[in-house]
Amino acid sequence: MGPTIRRLYASLLGVLVVVVTLAGLLIGPGAGVRLWSLLAIAVILVAVLTYALLVRLARRLRVLEDAAARLASGELSARAAVEYHDDLGGLARSLNEIADRAERDRNELERGRDESAAALDYLPQGVALIAPDLTIRHANARFWESVEVEAPDRGAHLSVARQPALQEAVEDARRAGRAVTREVSLYLSERLDVEATVAPVGDGATPEAWLLTIEDLGPERRAAEIRREFVANVSHELKTPLTSILGYTETLLQGGLHDEEHRGKFVETIRAQASRLEALVDDLLSLADLERPDAELELKDWDLGELLREMAEPFEDLAARRGLAFELDAAPGTRIRCDRKRLELAIRNLIDNAIKYTEKGWVRIHLVPGTSRARISVADSGRGIAPEHLARIFERFYRADQARSRAQGGTGLGLSIVKHAVQLHGGTVGVESEADRGSTFWLELPVSGPGS
Ligand code: ADP
Repeated sequence: MGPTIRRLYASLLGVLVVVVTLAGLLIGPGAGVRLWSLLAIAVILVAVLTYALLVRLARRLRVLEDAAARLASGELSARAAVEYHDDLGGLARSLNEIADRAERDRNELERGRDESAAALDYLPQGVALIAPDLTIRHANARFWESVEVEAPDRGAHLSVARQPALQEAVEDARRAGRAVTREVSLYLSERLDVEATVAPVGDGATPEAWLLTIEDLGPERRAAEIRREFVANVSHELKTPLTSILGYTETLLQGGLHDEEHRGKFVETIRAQASRLEALVDDLLSLADLERPDAELELKDWDLGELLREMAEPFEDLAARRGLAFELDAAPGTRIRCDRKRLELAIRNLIDNAIKYTEKGWVRIHLVPGTSRARISVADSGRGIAPEHLARIFERFYRADQARSRAQGGTGLGLSIVKHAVQLHGGTVGVESEADRGSTFWLELPVSGPGS
């Protein structure tokens, strides 16, 4: 029984005592024992019944009070039991309705907040909502990744991002009272150039918060750099044979045509340079085809062993003419789903290189079947590749041995064609090589199952 009910009960008892005293005075001492007994019984009955009623009332009030206290402490799922359809029952129902509404509103708010947070996390930019006192109210995963700091559990001061340039940008925007955009360098494990934008949030004269957005300028700059480098390389590769063709044509026109001794050689050179141009254009077209973002493979089921046989066959003669032993170890039985034309491009390039860069010894093609992936290796006993070149050997126009590549009519694009064609098939490529001891280029491709 709570203090209020106790006080109520005490007051009732007091009233009862007053009533009994007044009754005693009215009845007077001459009243019979019976009357006094009846009065005593009535008093006891009233006291006991009132007590019982008040205990019940106290229990029901406690239920309401408990529910209200739990709701007040934020436990919005708390409800009061509705026992009777009286006024206390009505109070419990109203309390429950308020709780229902509050819970619904909170769930909606939470859903909205989760959706916004999920949307923010998908953004390629780092985004942080900063309070006027520079506390980070919310920041997406990309923001913390960009500053290489683990996201704190609760709102933290912007200084935890450990990037004074960002803090300065926010402070400047706050001072100016308007949006600010600038390029800043973040100092992390390596320097990262970003564009930071700080914009006010809210319509009032004093913004409620500031939205800080950081965007990595790296990928765009790197892409532009790669494009520039590629164009420069292509122009250079095209210019060399063109200059040679123009030079010899000029010589022929200026009397060379009558030089019986040399004119044949001149025309030969023009043809060789034109072939080089053709090879370069072919490789560029192949590469463009493989690098197309919407490149669609014409996939069919093939027996990899048989495919390798067919692909390697034209090289047997070439190897023999160069005095090289040519071995093929590719048993039939490994099924693969591939775009034959594009896979052939990759394998032919590897075999062609092996023959091209081997003066004496052998070239071996080996198929190792596997349950999920098959491995094809093209090994040679040739000049090999020095370790400093290995990491970049699959890059476009990268040549370990410039002079020999050019002398052999190489375009410097073969291995990047190999890499792209294999990657399009969900495979991987690699190389092991040692200078003057030979190289083993390998590729692994997913298989569709054993032969049937
Ligand atoms: P290229 O047209 O010059 O052969 P690739 O992209 O096919 O271009 O190869 C890149 C470079 O890798 C070559 O220039 C050569 O230096 C080196 N290379 C490729 N294959 C071999 C190999 N089997 N042995 C030695 N060097 C190789």
